[in-house]
Amino acid sequence: MDTALSDSSRVVVLGHQHADKAFVVRDFLERNVVPYAWHDMNRSEPAREMAQRLGMSGDAAVTVVLPDCRVLHDPSLIDLALALDLTRPAKSDTYDLVIVGGGPAGLACGVYAGCEGMKVVMIEDDAPGGQAGSTSRIENYLGFPSGIGGAELARAALTQAKGFGVEWLSARVANRLGTDGDWRTVGLADGSVIRGRAVLIATGMQWRRHPAPGVDRFINAGVYYGSCLSEAATVAGEDVYMVGAGNSAGQAALAFARYARSVTMLVRTAELDTMSHYLIERLKACPNISVRTRTEVVESLGDTSLTGLVLRDGVTGSTETVPAAALYLLIGATPCTEWCGDLIGRDDHGFVLTGTEVVRDDRPLAVPWSAARDPLLMETNVPGVFAAGDVRSGSVKRVGSAIGQGAVALQAINEYLGSMVTASAKS
Ligand SMILES: Cc1cc2nc3c(=O)[nH]c(=O)nc-3n(C[C@H](O)[C@H](O)[C@H](O)COP(=O)(O)OP(=O)(O)OC[C@H]3O[C@@H](n4cnc5c(N)ncnc54)[C@H](O)[C@@H]3O)c2cc1C
Repeated sequence: MDTALSDSSRVVVLGHQHADKAFVVRDFLERNVVPYAWHDMNRSEPAREMAQRLGMSGDAAVTVVLPDCRVLHDPSLIDLALALDLTRPAKSDTYDLVIVGGGPAGLACGVYAGCEGMKVVMIEDDAPGGQAGSTSRIENYLGFPSGIGGAELARAALTQAKGFGVEWLSARVANRLGTDGDWRTVGLADGSVIRGRAVLIATGMQWRRHPAPGVDRFINAGVYYGSCLSEAATVAGEDVYMVGAGNSAGQAALAFARYARSVTMLVRTAELDTMSHYLIERLKACPNISVRTRTEVVESLGDTSLTGLVLRDGVTGSTETVPAAALYLLIGATPCTEWCGDLIGRDDHGFVLTGTEVVRDDRPLAVPWSAARDPLLMETNVPGVFAAGDVRSGSVKRVGSAIGQGAVALQAINEYLGSMVTASAKS
């Protein structure tokens, strides 16, 4: 092997800079905190030669060389995870608690459950930390006044969970949820099934990404997906832009306008046709809110943080550069709930219903609540299946909130498991 490029202490990745597959592999290594050296084959002749010697075919987008010299061409994430010992088949097929999703909500529940001595397995289809793990810096998480890297927070939380005996399976996709008597079952993409006395759905959601160049470079440095109304005061005296035409964008604009110098809503369509009438009236009445229809962001500008935006008029095609301190993107999110099939009741946007929401008369569910008792806090329409974090209907989409919900869900899970023990003792 080429000694200039090989590395016995690090993974070596050879690939094409712009190949999606190469990006996915590097992103996976980064978020799993695996040290690696990257060589772009478009730029490096030694990298091209090495790839040839390793038998990388012309079609392959990426080749990974492990420190022990094993070579993987275009590996799937599960193959990569297995090769790096980041995942392994579940040690058992029954657990007290199966947590699906290794973001802040799942990790928090795992830490507290492990701490109480429960037998817990966590199933994560990617890397620890979820959305938070992919964020370069979280500025508003309690106790970290200078912010904390998302991957760093995720790694610390995972270490903590593992320290309490939680079994961690990464790069494993849950694709079915079911029941088998008192057991709750989670099917994995490899065909295996894990049974738990209780299951926590903590699979979060995915924000629709804004495609304009530069936008993702300033995430959490002026560009924010979603908005938390309690953060409105952070934009005091600033010029704020908001992309989105739904009610959440309207509500956010009103909240931010109380502090910002100006709030400009950017809407691609000719009218705010998806927003409630009362919100449109309130926006009109607010002197420092303006709505620019048929306008879109085509570029974000700045050095280390956002300072400006390039806007395009959808009618004339002309562009304009405006100073901007913050850009909030409220362009829709999709909860990761497909794997639950029809079993779990959801709201109109696909977020999981829990607690009293599952027994509301106006909610016809495919599987109605069947137990004699009321659903517990964060319990879904299936007794023993709980949900926490962004995937839950009505939840605040923030790290702190997801962690809090993960911790609170455990109390309800304990109550449920306690009631099952009592019931079986009586029978
Ligand atoms: C770019 C960005 C920046 C953000 N910045 C901040 C910030 O600064 N401050 C803040 O408070 N919040 C921030 N947030 C929001 C915050 O990250 C989320 O609210 C939080 O991560 C939600 O945690 P969660 O555990 O509920 O879900 P997620 O973080 O979404 O985690 C869910 C996990 O489940 C996994 N999963 C999904 N489906 C499956 C399946 N079928 N099988 C197995 N695993 C599955 C996902 O891969 C993911 O890892 C940000 C979000 C984004 C996207």
